This record gives sequence, structure tokens and C-alpha cells, in this order.
Amino acid sequence: MHSDELDIIDDSEHVAQEIASRKLSQQMPPWRIMIVDDDSEVHKATLFALQDIRIDDRQLHFIHAYTAEEALSTIRADQDIAVIILDVVMENESAGLDLVKKIRHDLERSALRIILRTGQPGYAPEMRVIREYDINDYKTKSELTRVRLLTTLTTAVRSYHQLQTILAAQGGLNKIAESAADLFTHRDLTTFAEAAMRGATALAGEGAEGFLCAHPNGFSKKKDEAIVIGATPYFASYLSHPVAECEEAAKLIAQAQTSQHLETCGQATAFLIPGDTGHQAFLYLKTPTPLRPADHQLLDVFCINIGVGLENVRLISDLSFSAYSDSLTRLSNRSGFIARIDERLCAGNSQSTMALVDIDHFSEFNDALGHHKGDELLLAVAQRLGTMISPQMLLARVGGDVFGIFGPDELLDPHILADQFKMPFAVGDYSLPIKATIGLTRADSLGKTDGLELLKATNIALNRAKQGGRGRWHYYTEDMAEATRKRLDLLHNLRLALIQQQGLEMHYQPQIELATGKVIGAEALIRWRGQDGQFIRPDQFISVAEYSGLIVDLGAWVFRTAIKEVKHWDTHGLGNLRMAINVSLVQFRDPLFLQRIRSALKELDVSPSRIELEITESVAMMEAETVISILGELKQMGIQIAIDDFGTGFSSLSYLHRLPIDQLKIDRAFVRDVTSAEGAGARIAQTVVRLGQSLGLSVIAEGIETEDQAQLLMDMGCPRAQGFLYSKPVNAEDFIAWCKLHA
Ligand code: C2E
Ligand code: MG
Ligand code: MG
Repeated sequence: MHSDELDIIDDSEHVAQEIASRKLSQQMPPWRIMIVDDDSEVHKATLFALQDIRIDDRQLHFIHAYTAEEALSTIRADQDIAVIILDVVMENESAGLDLVKKIRHDLERSALRIILRTGQPGYAPEMRVIREYDINDYKTKSELTRVRLLTTLTTAVRSYHQLQTILAAQGGLNKIAESAADLFTHRDLTTFAEAAMRGATALAGEGAEGFLCAHPNGFSKKKDEAIVIGATPYFASYLSHPVAECEEAAKLIAQAQTSQHLETCGQATAFLIPGDTGHQAFLYLKTPTPLRPADHQLLDVFCINIGVGLENVRLISDLSFSAYSDSLTRLSNRSGFIARIDERLCAGNSQSTMALVDIDHFSEFNDALGHHKGDELLLAVAQRLGTMISPQMLLARVGGDVFGIFGPDELLDPHILADQFKMPFAVGDYSLPIKATIGLTRADSLGKTDGLELLKATNIALNRAKQGGRGRWHYYTEDMAEATRKRLDLLHNLRLALIQQQGLEMHYQPQIELATGKVIGAEALIRWRGQDGQFIRPDQFISVAEYSGLIVDLGAWVFRTAIKEVKHWDTHGLGNLRMAINVSLVQFRDPLFLQRIRSALKELDVSPSRIELEITESVAMMEAETVISILGELKQMGIQIAIDDFGTGFSSLSYLHRLPIDQLKIDRAFVRDVTSAEGAGARIAQTVVRLGQSLGLSVIAEGIETEDQAQLLMDMGCPRAQGFLYSKPVNAEDFIAWCKLHA
């Protein structure tokens, strides 16, 4: 469109507004002015002086009273009187002022303006009275020339108008606030529209009737397509009908749509309800008496609220749609997947299978290439999976990098699924060799089931497939659920034990200097006595605690208990022993890890030099810089570090020399093999000892059960040992006794 045309459109809109506001003022009622004077000549003179006068484009309408009493009853009945021109002396000297008091106090008409007139200057009220009763002006009759009277009256009318607007707005704003609060609690269109009509009629005053209409989908703007969505009893028969059917209102609404402004016609008003997305709705009201401009303003504000509310209701219905679909791939999301499976299962499709396809190492791709490329990868996977989906099947994105597929058993073949990942995926300029891990469940295998249960089962199968190494699949079997349930039970009980400080204790296993046979310290090993009084092995619960994160709290408890024991040792003259404490990878990742250690040592007043932390190779395998910095800090505190189970998983010896550690702990699997001719145990043990020597690290062999093993390791140059040969892990008391016996 040419810019000139735009100007014309702008202009025409402007003109339309101008006309609309002028039309409004033409329809404005006259100002109601009351003349109170016992002298009828004064009435006549006043009328003469003010004839044909308009104030702010509104005519004047005069009401006459000749006594204070008459005036009072008229004022009581007429709520719209703007100004009273009042004679001070009438029936008696104080009649005028008495009336003023009554107007302010009894009738509580604070907006009403009062102009006092008196024949004699001597009757002027004191300033105090003028202020107290909010008297607008005080003039002697001789002072009030026509011009003076006019300016005084104009000021009074304007100030009445302002006060009136403010008061109405205050009352109205309260009502708006109340109705808005009511309005915004509604989530569906019907109850929302009902609340909107309640609010609107409350604002419009007693006897107001009307309706609210809107375009059903918010996009069509044709005026006669608007549907009545809420109505007062009088208009109730139009509910859900096109607004065109209500002829009396349709015309006014059409005008409002054209003028983009409220339109009134007698007692009827059509308000425009603006909408953010360009859609429009209308409020139509019919009142026993025409609405005043102040009412228009308030209702206009209220209509803005209705507009916002309508937008919300629409957004919410949009939301409920999006609650079932994934915005990126446009596939069903988790909830949508479950809901659609429920439908199918209800329809009797029990010979179906669910598969969950989890992209391997997705978060690494995402981190490396950026989220944008990550999204592209997901889209590419969705598209490829889409090619193998027949109409009887469902495809959904149930989680960040997990896709769900549901369909007849014979169509959902894991081989075919896995084949989808044979070819790399094109993402931008990259060709990514993506693999996936797949969990599957046959609906039949669960008996009578639903979407959620199937999803849970398939998740268990997926986790099992992941445990078996990535890039493979696993079907759900019943024993898997059993195992999962057991782990959950175990976790629950462990958490309880920790909270209640019941059933958990630390045992201590001595560490020996091979050359002298002297004890140098102990390894602290956790013990958990289950409800049946039997010990549960750490191997069984440490991994659950790690998996759930409970290990952070459990580890903190272990640390505190162990260092308390160090203090206990001192009281038994074992002040030279060192405590080795196991620390898991998950604890290492806890940002408060160092802080916890520092404050526990400080609080319990234990020297860091008495502590050794045993970390596994998996910790050492974390990002090198992080590990080096944390270990560096521990070392700086004076804590020693040992690498536990050394030789079982350490794949990168290359940076071992950069790790600030003190000791290597030969895994007991090698120690066990050390005496056998076939095994590689001896060779590996020897290598670890040499490695220790060359790096300046101490070496300890764990799991020594026989004298032969001890002798061989000593011959290899291994300085320290730990194992059943010396002692099993024992409780604190037994450990102290053992030490005293072997001192
Ligand atoms: P680990 O740190 O390698 O602990 C040594 C394990 O070997 C202990 O098993 C100990 O009882 C056992 N052991 C010691 N000498 C011999 C022996 O001569 N022969 C045999 N067959 N075994 C021996 P335990 O106490 O069952 O602990 C198993 C694992 O649980 C520990 O391996 C450690 O990784 C973990 N663990 C134990 N306590 C804690 C703890 O407080 N915190 C953390 N994070 N992990 C712990
Ligand atoms: Mg250990
Ligand atoms: Mg070990």
C-alpha cells in the first residue's frame, strides 16, 4: 500500500473518533444546577444571567427551591445535582448554613458544589466554616455580576465533575478490582463469560441487562459471526447464537466495530473489547437510564480486563492443546502418547508393543554443537523414525532425547528400529553417526494395562538395555520390575535409616606395614543392619545410594563418624593411626564437598593429616582439570589421597603423574591371583608397585588372605597391606582391642 493511502486511512480513523466523541457530548445530560433562595426575584435574575449558557459543551438545567427544607428533600431525591447556589439567610439567619451541614453530614454528598450568596456582607460565614463544609465560593449578591456568576459556576461545575469522576472511579475501581479478581479465576469460556457479565452489570448499576459476544476462534473478524458467549437472564435465549439474531443489539455492535469505539443509543451501549491478537469481542448493555460518561469510562476499563481474560481463556485452551504435543517435532509428547495409547488399549489393541528409543550421548552432541544443532538432530531422528511408522502406529517424543513408538507387535521389530540408526544423520554440515538404545514392552506381558504403566515398564527395559552398554535393546520382563521394586524399597529403608540414625555403623579394617607388621591405620567401611538384623553388603546399597544422590548425605555421615572415631582413638593412645575413608564419584561432584570436609574437621578438631580419602578410578577419570583442582585443595589442607581398586578401570595412565595423590591401592582381584601361575595377577601387581615407586607413591595391597600372598607382595616391594589375614573389618570397640593386642 502506498504511504498516502495509509495517511488517508489514519485520517479517516481520526475523524471517526472525533465524530464519536462529539456524538457522545451531544448526548451528555445537562448540568443540574439548583437555586435556593426565598426571594423569587433572585431566581429570575439568576436564570436571566445564565440563559443559553453551556459549560463544557453541556447545557444547564435549573431546579428551584425556596426554603431550606424544600431544598433538602429535592437534593435527597436528585443524585445528579452538580451545584447549589444557596442563599445564606432564608427562614432564619442560619437556614443556609444548616442546609450545608445536612448536605455534607446527613446526605454525605461530598461532590456536590455549593456557592453561598448573601444580601448582607455581615452574614458571611467564618473561614473555618467555609473550609469545614467545603463551600466552593462565597459572594455577596452585589458582587455576583453576570460574568462573576458565570466564572464561579463554571469553576464549581468543573470541580464537581472532577470530584464526581474521582469518586465514581474509586467506587468503580473497587468494583473493577473485585470483578477482575473473579474474572481471572476462570479457565473455561462459559464460566468466564458468566463472571464477565456479573462484573459488567454490577458496574452498570441496578437493572442492567446485556450480553458478551466474541468470535468463536478468535480469527474471523466478520462482525455478524460473533457468537453470544455470556448473557444476563433477559438475553439468555441468545446464548450460543450468532449476534445477528439479536437485531436490537447487532446494529449497535456493528457500529462499534466500524467506529472502533463504544456506541450508545438511548439506554443501550455497545462496548468494544480489545484483544491482543487482533480479535474483537463486544459487550452489549441495556440500562434503565442512559449510562453516564463516568460509567462509560469504568466499563471501558473493565472491557480491557475482559479482553485480557478472554485472551487467557484462549491461551489456556491453546495450552491444553500444546499439553499434548511437542512444540519442536510436532509429535505427541509424553502425555499425548499416554492418552492416545489409552484410547487404543480401550479399543482392544492389546497385541501391541511400546518401544522407547533413547539417543546415545545426545547431551554430549548438544553441548558440543549447540542447542540449535541439537534440535536439528532431534528433528532428523523424528523424521527418520517417521518413515518406518505405518498408520496403525504412534510416534511421540516422550522426553528430551527419547522417542516413543507404539504399534502392533509384528510391526514393531527392534531389528528394524535399530537399523534406522545405521546411517549417519545429517545436521547442517555435519554427518553424525548416532546410535540409540531401545527398551520394549509387549502390552500382553503386563496383563491388563494402560499407557502410563506401559511407559514405566518400557523405561525399566530401557534402563536395563543401557546397563548392558549402549547401542542395544532389551525387552521388559517381569523380574525387572521386581528388581526395580527391590531397589526402591532398599533406597527407602536406607534413607529412613540415615534419618533415624538407626542400623548404620562404621567398621574398621586395619592397614599394616608389611616390613614390621605394625598397624598404620584403618579403612572405614560402612555397615547397614537391615530390619531383619542381618547386615546388608555395601556393594548392594552404595550403588543405589549413588544412583539416587543419597550418597551425598550418607557420605557426610560416614565422614563425620569416621573422624569422630579418630578422636576416640586418641583417648586410647592410638594417636598415630590414619583413617582411610571411601569417597564416591557422586560426592566428588557435590559443590559443597570441600566445604563439608573443612567444616567437619574444624568442628570436631581433627587434624587433616590423620585422614586419607580413597577415591576410585572413576573419580580420577572425571574431567582432568576439575579432579586436579579438587585433589589439589584436599592435599593443601593436608589430607592424603589414595586411588582405590587400582588397575581395574583406569584407562588413562597418561595423566596419573599430574594427579596430586599419595597412594595406589592394588585391587584385591590381582592380589587373589598373585600366587597362581596362570593369572596375570602377579604381573599387574608388580607393575603397580613399580609405577608407585617411579611416581613416588606408596602402594597398599588389599584383600590379603594368606601368608603367601603377603610374602610375595613384600618381595615385589609392596610396603603396605590390608586383608582378612590380619583382620576382617570390625566395629570400633573391637578395632581398638585388636590394635592394643597387636601393638
Ligand atoms: P573397597 O573400598 O575396595 O573396600 C574393601 C572391601 O574389601 C571391603 O568390602 C572389605 O570388607 C573387603 N575386604 C577386605 N579385606 C578382604 C579380604 O581379605 N578378602 C575379601 N574377600 N574381602 C576383603 P565391603 O566392606 O563389603 O565394601 C565393599 C565396597 O563398598 C568398598 O570397596 C567400597 O567401595 C564400598 N564402601 C564401603 N564403605 C563405604 C563408604 O563408607 N563409602 C563409600 N563411598 N563406599 C563404601
Ligand atoms: Mg576402599
Ligand atoms: Mg578396594
